Amino acid sequence: MKNALTVDLEDWYHICGVAACADPAGWDAFESRVAQNTDRVLALLRRHGARATFFVLGRIAEREPALVRAVAAEGHEVATHGHIHRRIYEMTPEEFEEDLLRSLDAIGSATGLPVVGHRAPEWSMRPHTLWALEILRRHGILYDSSMVPLTRMGSPGFPVNPGPVPTPSGDIFEFPLTAMRCFGENIPFTGGLALRLTPYFYILSKIRRMNREGLPAMVYFHPWELDPDPPRLPLPPARRFMTGFNLQGAASKLDGLMRHLAFVPVREFVPA
Ligand SMILES: [Zn+2]
Repeated sequence: MKNALTVDLEDWYHICGVAACADPAGWDAFESRVAQNTDRVLALLRRHGARATFFVLGRIAEREPALVRAVAAEGHEVATHGHIHRRIYEMTPEEFEEDLLRSLDAIGSATGLPVVGHRAPEWSMRPHTLWALEILRRHGILYDSSMVPLTRMGSPGFPVNPGPVPTPSGDIFEFPLTAMRCFGENIPFTGGLALRLTPYFYILSKIRRMNREGLPAMVYFHPWELDPDPPRLPLPPARRFMTGFNLQGAASKLDGLMRHLAFVPVREFVPA
């Protein structure tokens, strides 16, 4: 049984909902650490023979095309994470489409390969933004990985398992955030802060149990989570916790999961 491994390829200051990082015009003032951190990700994957999907920010592909080419050259899938890291629910359908097309253009120019996958910044698909799926499908995107089946984020009505979702332009395959059932709630445990908080052996045994039931899990992380000395922004306490808690733990947990589980890009789960 194979699982999906995904990396949201963005820099340390691409944080939604923080005024100091919201305007792309100000991004050049921040130290760029994406190349060195992505090198760490590539080395980790190489060590385990794991292949992943990299959801790349269009703006990064524009500024660092050689980095994105290097990712593709190592056999990883390059997909889109939008252009300037805006949440779907903060855009109109027209703005979403424009942002998507800019990212597809930048990523396509960097790699010369078609892009068939999408993940929204901060898992920002909501029941009232499902119009985005039709726009994605119309522009050649075959799968999306932006739905979170949680009460506090996304929607508890979103699918828990991967599968097709109909749109007026044809079906799109959705691979939602992996969650486990606990006390009547869906709880995330395979990426970001949830992975850093959950004990390693618990994550591993939960994924193994899913695999025995014939279900793939999806693990996700960001290059900045492997940065041994990340710059700090003056963030509100909840945000500081989200971005800074137990970063050392992330690297060792990811290393262990890759040692014990087989990982492939999301594209390999999409029916031909
Ligand atoms: Zn992101």
